Amino acid sequence: MRVHAPLLAVLSCRKNRTDQALPRRWTVNKLKRYLGNIKTLEAHDTQNEKTLCRLDEIKPEHRLWYDTLAAAKADRPYDNCAWCLGSSTR
Ligand SMILES: [Zn+2]
Repeated sequence: MRVHAPLLAVLSCRKNRTDQALPRRWTVNKLKRYLGNIKTLEAHDTQNEKTLCRLDEIKPEHRLWYDTLAAAKADRPYDNCAWCLGSSTR
């Protein structure tokens, strides 16, 4: 009867992950004028973008682009961004 030597497990070092460091920033490729954040349901006017809009913190998968604000609001129940559009209703 043969006894096989135990295989050495190759341990990956997952404690060194750095992906939870700082809030990630994504570049914003402005495809159209109005940007909807489908996570927070806020609409932005990127031609009147303010620093406080923090558009670069919206994940790409949460971005939807519209030619007009009316088109955005027809698509989803967006609220106006208080910084670039004003008259926020929240
Ligand atoms: Zn805004």
